[in-house]
Amino acid sequence: MLWEIYQQSRIHAASAQAESASRKSGEIRSAVYELENRTDRLALTTMAMWALMSEKLGITEQELEDKITEIDLSDGKLDGKVRVEAQSCPSCGRKLSKRHHKCMYCGTVAGDTVGRL
Ligand SMILES: [Zn+2]
Repeated sequence: MLWEIYQQSRIHAASAQAESASRKSGEIRSAVYELENRTDRLALTTMAMWALMSEKLGITEQELEDKITEIDLSDGKLDGKVRVEAQSCPSCGRKLSKRHHKCMYCGTVAGDTVGRL
């Protein structure tokens, strides 16, 4: 009898876990779908901007490539990204948030860092 109750509770727990995993997977699927839509919209906007720039201003593809390389290198690495590595706080040495100028641990205001947008 006790064994049966124990088994029932384990089955109930496993069922709840499966339900939770299924819900999370649904959430992730819709987040990916949303990201795909935003990426498509961004690609479309970029293509339209490029078409206007080359048509109206006569900017060449080489000039565009050179600017892409220049901006890519602004974070010190030619890697197709403009990601800024997390800086360390000059006062306490902890990692600074990329979004805040002020250290969240000791309150030190960090100086201007390269590539902060
Ligand atoms: Zn600090």
